[in-house]
Amino acid sequence: MLELKHIKKYYHVGDTVTKAQDDVSVAFREKEFVAILGPSGSGKTTMLNIIGGLDRYDSGDLLIKGKSTKGFKDADWDAYRNNSVGFIFQSYNLISHLGIIENVEMGMTLSGVPAATRRQKAEEALIRVGLNQHMHKKINQLSGGQMQRVAIARAIASDPEILLADEPTGALDSETSNEIMQLIKDLSKERLVIMVTHNPELAHQYADRIIEFADGKIQNDSHPHIEGAKADNFKLTRTKMSYWTALKLSWTNIRTKKGRTFLTVFASSIGIISIAIVLALSNGFQKQIDKTQSEAMSSMPITISQVGSDTSAMTGTTTKKFSKADTVTAEKSDADKAQHVNKITNKYINYVKDIPAKYTKNIAITYGTGMNLIRQVDGKYKTVSFSNSNPDSQTVDTASMMANATGVGGSVYPINSDGKQTFLKTYYKVIAGNYPKSATDIVLVVNKDNSININALKNLGISVKENEKLDFDKLVSTTVKVVANNDYYTKLPTGNFVPDNNYDGMATKANTKTLRVTGIIRVKSKNSDGLLASGVAYSSQLTKEVLNTNKDSEIVKAQKATPTKNIMTGQTMDASTANGLLTMLGGSSKPTTIQIYPTTFKDKDHVLNYLDKYNKGKNKNDKVIYTDLAGTVSDMTGGLMDAITYVLIAFAAISLITSMIMISIITYTSVIERTKEIGVLKALGARKRDITRVFNAETFILGFGAGLFGIAVAYLATFPINSVLANVTGLNGVAVLNPMHAIVLVLVSTVLTILGGHIPARMAAKKDAAIALRSE
Ligand code: ADP
Ligand code: MG
Repeated sequence: MLELKHIKKYYHVGDTVTKAQDDVSVAFREKEFVAILGPSGSGKTTMLNIIGGLDRYDSGDLLIKGKSTKGFKDADWDAYRNNSVGFIFQSYNLISHLGIIENVEMGMTLSGVPAATRRQKAEEALIRVGLNQHMHKKINQLSGGQMQRVAIARAIASDPEILLADEPTGALDSETSNEIMQLIKDLSKERLVIMVTHNPELAHQYADRIIEFADGKIQNDSHPHIEGAKADNFKLTRTKMSYWTALKLSWTNIRTKKGRTFLTVFASSIGIISIAIVLALSNGFQKQIDKTQSEAMSSMPITISQVGSDTSAMTGTTTKKFSKADTVTAEKSDADKAQHVNKITNKYINYVKDIPAKYTKNIAITYGTGMNLIRQVDGKYKTVSFSNSNPDSQTVDTASMMANATGVGGSVYPINSDGKQTFLKTYYKVIAGNYPKSATDIVLVVNKDNSININALKNLGISVKENEKLDFDKLVSTTVKVVANNDYYTKLPTGNFVPDNNYDGMATKANTKTLRVTGIIRVKSKNSDGLLASGVAYSSQLTKEVLNTNKDSEIVKAQKATPTKNIMTGQTMDASTANGLLTMLGGSSKPTTIQIYPTTFKDKDHVLNYLDKYNKGKNKNDKVIYTDLAGTVSDMTGGLMDAITYVLIAFAAISLITSMIMISIITYTSVIERTKEIGVLKALGARKRDITRVFNAETFILGFGAGLFGIAVAYLATFPINSVLANVTGLNGVAVLNPMHAIVLVLVSTVLTILGGHIPARMAAKKDAAIALRSE
């Protein structure tokens, strides 16, 4: 069955050589009970370990059923231990964090025997050793004799051909020793049992054959056996521990040290917690910044006016040098030099309309035209305006000059090029009535406190006193009529045109449009305050329609025929005043302004590049110059946020690395603690890889746990953080944990802890089984 041929095993420690096996040759029968007797240190355990494949011989050969083991690889030895050998130790070597049945099943678990078969065989083995009453107890609830019975059950559970026992009764009293010896004797009827003992009485009483050992040599053999030549009929099934088994094994081990596990998980999660919070905050701040930026963009559009200001043409007084000449030079002022008349052609308008849609929220093209507005007050029609200037004031203030420039006053809100109304819906909410739907719908814009410029109301013909409160109903549905030039002006015999004063008659003319106040609106957020002035606002579409009606009217034709003479007063005018008048009369189809609202600061740069491209290669006069109101407000904030985030993450990463080192130390401690268990697992046939797997599984559980715990804590922390931030900054819901970040962080935690624990796990796997089992 088994044959040792000239086995030698020397231990070299310093200069001394211990000959643990000094040319041992012996053969064993298939079924017999062999006792090995000898003094301590004579090499008995070494021989047993060599026979059982736990230790390697230096030279000689071990033949198993006639097969030489000289060419055995690690995997062969692992399989041999698992398939053919059962070990019993003096100190039982049970795995204390597993139950009795799990201990007995372990060898079969390692070789992948299905659970049901495993359980059945384990129970049979436990019955065989007389433990049917105690199967469901915990290891530490058993007596020494009972523990040794569990160990025997474990050794025989998969019915091995060889049972090796190293001083199995060494720790037991004589009565229990006898019971155990009897049990082993019974088991030897079915297999080869080799038992080491230092008790000659027990050996003589129970064993069939006694081998006396001393100084690494066999001194005497009571019943020698000569193994004849045997055909090699030895087969092995490889063992393989599943990941699931490794996880279960580690899980039960972790459960026995709950306190320490919790502290480890908690400490390791600190890195994850800090990174998660930093990410959540920067995420939220970035969103806030983007929102603020986007709102800022809406109040600071890129503006293209009929007359632009070319700042590059300005020289500035500071750059001027003292002159030595005795002449005076006549020079244009900087402001005049910078003045540039933009040729806003249809080609240019189409070019602007072709800006990639993703870069802009809105392109508002305003056509300047006056509107002949009348409204019925106290039963009679009279002229009104949308202006905010004081109707009682005699002096012409800047506001009314502006009103003249754009024709009629009031604010113009943009309509998307596809005709949809998103501007108002984005920035304004309706506090009475509805959003405007058609070109003839107008709105009243009020401030945050519902106040409105009193002049706007007075100019509409509504009689109000200062601080008077008006019901929404009184204002919503107010109507104003726009009269076409041909109905509004009459030609005098002198050839001049003057407004007709039959306003009631105008109200019913076919070309007269009725404008209706559909609602009162107010900014949604204080950041977009000031997009539209308080007062009347109407759509850019209305201007277009009025333009269409008036562009070929009699007065416009007449004015165009006499460009330098004011057709209403007969006075001569300069070119710019003439142009202003023609625009006001609706005779100019050129837009007065084009306003481009980029989506974000970054998009603004794209838009500017796009506009600059138009000017490339064009001569100075054909260039179109824009004003970038937001030009000075750079995108600093975004970059700053990124920088802060990186610094904070770097700090947090340090704590992550600290936890990694800690996990590594903890795994190392665990490896030391579980040295015995590693030895037992190896004795049961575990491969190196299985041992690595067990420890990797442990670090996986710790790392994954720490990740989950960290994310949970970080998530919960966002609530108090947000409430503090809301109190301090007034921003709501800043810290938002991105689920994607959470998943990645759990993965990072798991991977890092596995990496941290991997070296100790490899150390564990490399542990010499024989040495591991000798450790206490
Ligand atoms: P026994 O079991 O008969 O008491 P062992 O087989 O345990 O004896 O030991 C035989 C000899 O080998 C002893 O002198 C012991 O000190 C020595 N020995 C065993 N293992 C090692 C080792 N790993 N390194 C050095 N010496 C060892
Ligand atoms: Mg020994």
